[in-house]
Amino acid sequence: MKVNVLGAAKEVGRSAFLVNCDNTNLLLDYGVLLKREPVFPMHVKPKEVDAVVITHAHLDHSGFVPSLYLSGSTDIPVLGTLPTFELSELLIEDMIKLSGFYLPFEYIDLMTMLKSSKNLQYREPYMVNDAKVTLHESGHVVGGSTAIVEHGGKRLFYTGDINTRGSKLLRPADLDFGEIDMMIIESTYSQNEQAPREESEKGLIEFAYDVIERGGTLFVPSFSVERAQEIACVLKAYDFKHKVVMDGMALKANQIMSRHPAYLRDAEMFRRAIGEAEWIQGWSRRRKVVNEPCVIISPAGMLVGGSAIHYTQGVAGSDKNGIAMVSYQGEGTPGRMLLDKKIANFDGRMMKCFADVKRFEFSGHNSRSELFEILDRVKGNPKVLCVHGDGPSCEKFAVEIKEKYGYDAIAPEQGQVVEV
Ligand SMILES: [Zn+2]
Repeated sequence: MKVNVLGAAKEVGRSAFLVNCDNTNLLLDYGVLLKREPVFPMHVKPKEVDAVVITHAHLDHSGFVPSLYLSGSTDIPVLGTLPTFELSELLIEDMIKLSGFYLPFEYIDLMTMLKSSKNLQYREPYMVNDAKVTLHESGHVVGGSTAIVEHGGKRLFYTGDINTRGSKLLRPADLDFGEIDMMIIESTYSQNEQAPREESEKGLIEFAYDVIERGGTLFVPSFSVERAQEIACVLKAYDFKHKVVMDGMALKANQIMSRHPAYLRDAEMFRRAIGEAEWIQGWSRRRKVVNEPCVIISPAGMLVGGSAIHYTQGVAGSDKNGIAMVSYQGEGTPGRMLLDKKIANFDGRMMKCFADVKRFEFSGHNSRSELFEILDRVKGNPKVLCVHGDGPSCEKFAVEIKEKYGYDAIAPEQGQVVEV
């Protein structure tokens, strides 16, 4: 079994791994790196791919898969869970709308891709020639999975993006991956311990009460898939007494997730959290709600667009209001500028933010100690590829794994081929 690292080498984004099992080639994820213009993983010829696995809907794992289906020319099976396909469609369609000019594919290619989709359940094996693929629950987003590939007596475990502590929305990852010969592990927070989840939850709830009880409005910019729903569930779990509203693409994600209760940790709580929130329809309501005592949950998480711009403008002018930053803020984004400098940036127009801005950690990724807990469970003597982290996070993690467990661990370069 050979793995060719086509992306996510010492970087977060464009995850793509081509697994060669004799005559069968499996592509595990084919994502984009979202910068000002999307950046793509290494090229692979569609006719050399026997099947594609999408571990979860985030664009850095799913976003480049349609490029394999140009002009309806291929029908490579694409494996994933049903919510992964529905959420991928939502996110890829939005990416095409926003950055279509930079993409080598169009909406019709996304449709061709979806026609080739094979919906798998967790733990349901799927044969691609004589290679076996099984998806396990990853705890990262709704429908998200890890992948196990078996062929010729060798076993590979790919974590994708993983969360083993679970959340209000999702169950913890299923770590029953058995004895393995190779492991591809994410390294996003390999050098960081995040705040305990309960601390973040209580901090957010306290902030929400403070802001509303002094007559203000709290805006929570959130990614539309997972984070927006997680925040709504946290408010519900703590029996939050004030009004909660949701807006933007999060509403479409709400609808998709509502159709898949089996993928949620507590479907009843989700139903109440989402159902009892007000869903904003139209501009007249959107304009009024920023002056009401409530919590507004809306994308974009990094304030790059969507109704987030309207809501930031609406709350930034008064020190009664608050903005709770609960999503990762990339370098150079308006969200990062607001957090670091308290300046709201609307397409180049700067405005001082008087609202109270606070940050809370709600990451869907494992912290350092939780990544090591996965390694503690490993049986066998696997080669380990540390990917999906910045350079030092991948490199230091590999050195630590080698020292602690004696495994042959590396932070691969893009294009590097590793064999077991
Ligand atoms: Zn992800």
